[in-house]
Amino acid sequence: MISIAIVGAGIAGVIIAEKLSPFAKITLFEKSRGFGGRVATRRVKHLHFDHGAQFFTARTTAFANYLRPLLETGLVQEWQPKIVTLERGKKPFKRKWFEPHYVAVPTMPSLARYAARDVSTLLNTKVSQLSYSAGKWTITDTAQNNWQPFDWVVLAIPPNQARELLQDSTSLVAELDRPKLSACYALLLGFQEHQSLNFEAAIVRDSPLSLIANNATKPGRDSVFSIVLHSDNYWADSQLETAEAEVRKVLLDELAELTDLDLTKLDYCALHRWRYARVEQALNESFLLDEEKHIATCGDWCLGNRVEDAFTSGWGLATRLKELIAD
Ligand SMILES: Cc1cc2nc3c(=O)[nH]c(=O)nc-3n(C[C@H](O)[C@H](O)[C@H](O)COP(=O)(O)OP(=O)(O)OC[C@H]3O[C@@H](n4cnc5c(N)ncnc54)[C@H](O)[C@@H]3O)c2cc1C
Repeated sequence: MISIAIVGAGIAGVIIAEKLSPFAKITLFEKSRGFGGRVATRRVKHLHFDHGAQFFTARTTAFANYLRPLLETGLVQEWQPKIVTLERGKKPFKRKWFEPHYVAVPTMPSLARYAARDVSTLLNTKVSQLSYSAGKWTITDTAQNNWQPFDWVVLAIPPNQARELLQDSTSLVAELDRPKLSACYALLLGFQEHQSLNFEAAIVRDSPLSLIANNATKPGRDSVFSIVLHSDNYWADSQLETAEAEVRKVLLDELAELTDLDLTKLDYCALHRWRYARVEQALNESFLLDEEKHIATCGDWCLGNRVEDAFTSGWGLATRLKELIAD
């Protein structure tokens, strides 16, 4: 059986792994301790924080079809928050969402964990080197373990990280300079008790903040009151060298200006920095594939900046690889 190494257990990586596992021996490598990548949840005692993607939409037939059975079992459910737009000095503006917004239950990574259920996965394993010899790939991790020769390697990771691994092993490298990603800070706030807030999610304009979401209002969460703040992406890019304490202060000051939340009741506050968060400029090709060297790369950055783009990129690459494997 053909052997395929997939690096990255975000949505793109797990979808490829799931789709190809009946036809190939798959090994999935993930540097962090769980599945999902930027579709992430942090659980702290009774608090749930989705500190990456807040929800996903399904605009393509392929993704809608994929989600249908998961909606039936309840692994994926619709989130219908009361949503407003906030801007300093202006009255909140009530918004409507015109398409369903989904979350995975009980946590966002449940979707990726489900997709990878039958796949041999090495978590806490950061791939640091790829070597190609006599038509086979060897993977080395940061603990200097070498993993068996593979027929194919798929990098389902952001382009900057893919470029570091590929070095000059394939002509695909030149393409990886085209997509551009910006950063994002997520501030996770847990409260001892419920507080009054006249919205469940807010889009913030003209501010270092871009989003305020009460994650406790999502289906299947047992949190009392857990708020996730996302910073503006351009602001985050300009603050990459700023001390954490200062970033927290700016975001909390902004929250205090925009809402009546009693911040003296905070009992958990943590900052997470996403270095590669949002795709500002996509590649506009579904994936990159070197058929001669048997190496490919994919992810949201190929097509856009949403969970569904990661799915579509991974799905497209898996479809093409399945044809190549069958030849
Ligand atoms: C703050 C934030 C908010 C967002 N909000 C939304 C939203 O509301 N709706 C929406 O649709 N999308 C949203 N997104 C975007 C969405 O999360 C992404 O489009 C999608 O999750 C990308 O999936 P991916 O598989 O392409 O990449 P990733 O999720 O980045 O997966 C890549 C994986 O590769 C792993 N990895 C990287 N390098 C290595 C290595 N060397 N060895 C092993 N493993 C490695 C990483 O740990 C990661 O798990 C948001 C993203 C962020 C950060």
